[in-house]
Amino acid sequence: MKTTSMIVTGGLVVPFSACGRQVLPGLVEDPGTRQNWAGNYTYQAERLYRPGTVEEVQELVLELGKQKALGSRHCFNNIADSPGSQITTSGLNRMLSVDEANMTVTVEAGARYGDFAEELHDRGYALHNLASLPHITVAGACATGTHGSGVENGNLATAVVSFDLVRPDGELVTIDRQHPDFPAVVVGLGAFGIVTRMTLEVQPTFEVRQHIYNNLPLTSVVDHFDTIMSAGYSVSLFTDWLDGNVSEVWIKRRTDRHAEELGGEYYGALAATENMHPIAGLSTEAVSDQMGRPGPWYDRLPHFRMGFTPSAGEELQSEYFVPRENAVEAILAIEALADEVNPLLLISEIRTIAADGLWMSPAYQRDSVALHFTWKQQEPEVLALLPKIEETLAPFAVRPHWGKLFTINAATLRQRYPKLDDFVTLAKRYDPEEKFHNTYLDNRVW
Ligand SMILES: Cc1cc2nc3c(=O)[nH]c(=O)nc-3n(C[C@H](O)[C@H](O)[C@H](O)COP(=O)(O)OP(=O)(O)OC[C@H]3O[C@@H](n4cnc5c(N)ncnc54)[C@H](O)[C@@H]3O)c2cc1C
Repeated sequence: MKTTSMIVTGGLVVPFSACGRQVLPGLVEDPGTRQNWAGNYTYQAERLYRPGTVEEVQELVLELGKQKALGSRHCFNNIADSPGSQITTSGLNRMLSVDEANMTVTVEAGARYGDFAEELHDRGYALHNLASLPHITVAGACATGTHGSGVENGNLATAVVSFDLVRPDGELVTIDRQHPDFPAVVVGLGAFGIVTRMTLEVQPTFEVRQHIYNNLPLTSVVDHFDTIMSAGYSVSLFTDWLDGNVSEVWIKRRTDRHAEELGGEYYGALAATENMHPIAGLSTEAVSDQMGRPGPWYDRLPHFRMGFTPSAGEELQSEYFVPRENAVEAILAIEALADEVNPLLLISEIRTIAADGLWMSPAYQRDSVALHFTWKQQEPEVLALLPKIEETLAPFAVRPHWGKLFTINAATLRQRYPKLDDFVTLAKRYDPEEKFHNTYLDNRVW
C-alpha cells in the first residue's frame, strides 16, 4: 500500500457558513428527491456532495460521518444509500492516461464506460468486455461485480490492475494486484471508502460482429449449451420461458477470431432479418448495431447505446449466478416455474462469466452462468416470487447480483461466499467507525 497524500485538519482553514456550520466542498444545495435509475428506490441520505477533486473527496470523507459513494445509480436496491450523506462521483469522470508499455488505461472512478470507450478505441485499445449498457460508472460497476458475457471473460472488475481509495480516515492509498487486500476491496460493495481512480487492463482494439438468431428451441440449449455459449466472444440467450423457446440468441464475434460465417440457421434458430430489441415490440433505436455488421468493441459488446435509454426503463431486475456445470439443470428448473415467472417478466437473459479470485464476486472461484430477470415494475409481486426462485436454485448454491433485487439473507450468503467473513473483518478494520456502513450491508452481508 502506497500512501500518496493525506488531509490533516489541524491548521486547515475551514470555511463556515453564517449559521456556524462547517461548509464542506461540493455540497449540492437542495439536492431534491434522489432516486435510483429505475425509480423504485428513494435514497434516504439527507445530503449530497459532488466533489470535483480527489482532495475534496478526502476532505469530505474525513469530515463527514455516515456516508456512501454514489455512482450512476443503476442499482435496484439500497446498496448506495447512507443514513448520512452521499458523495456522487459524477464530477470525477475523465480518462486520465493510457500506459502503452503496461497496456493499461487510468480513469477517474466516476467515469462511465461510455465516457471514454470511444477515445480509448481511437487510441488503438479496448477493454476486455462491457456490461449490457455503457451508462454505468467504472467504480460503481466494479463495486458490485458487474459483468457482460463470454465463457473466457471475467467480470468487469477482473480488468482492474490498481486503484486509488480514499479510506474512511481520509487517507488516499493505492492498492494494486500485489496488495493482499486487493481481492477483497475491488468488488467492495462501497464498504471500504471511496475509490477515486482505477487503472484497467487494455488490449489492442478489436471489432465485433453481432449476429441475432430467433426462436432457438430450448432442447438445443439443453443438448448444446456449451457449444452455443462458445459460438462467439460474448453470447446471450433471451427467453420469456414459454413454449420451450429462446426468443433471441445474440452472438458477438470478434472479427480477428472468427472469419467464417455462422449461416442462416443455428441449432434450429433462424437468423434475424433486422435489428432486434431483447424485449419484443420495443424500438431498436437504443440497441447496438447487429446484422453481422462489424463495429468497434465499445459499440457492439453492450446491447444498448450511450445516449439512449437502455433496456425498458420502467423495470426491475434480479440476477442469479450458478456454477456453469449446473447451467442446464438450473435453466430447466426455472422453466418449470414459467407460469409464475412469466406474468411478471419483461425478458430473461442467460450469460456466462469466467471464474475469478475476487472475494465478493458472484463468480468467485467458479465458472458461472447468470440467469437474469428483467421484471415489470410490480415490486411487491416480484419480491414475493424471488424466494421461490432462490429456493429453486439453492441446490446450485446460487449467488445473487449485489446490485439487483434479491431476498437471500446474510447467513445463507455466508455459506455461498467462502471469503465473506474475511471480507467483513477487513471492512471493519478499514472502517472501525462504520462511516460506510448502511442498512444494505447490515442486512445482506454483516
Ligand atoms: C438497465 C440496466 C442494465 C444493467 N445491465 C447489467 C449488466 O449487463 N451486467 C451486470 O452485471 N449488471 C447490470 N446492471 C446492474 C449495474 O451494472 C450495477 O448495478 C452497477 O453496480 C451500477 O453501477 P453504478 O455506477 O450505477 O453504481 P451505484 O448504483 O451508484 O452504486 C453501486 C455501489 O457501488 C458503490 N460505489 C459507486 N462508486 C463508488 C466509488 N467511487 N467508490 C466506492 N464505491 C463506489 C456504491 O456505494 C454502491 O455500493 C444493469 C443495471 C441497469 C439499470
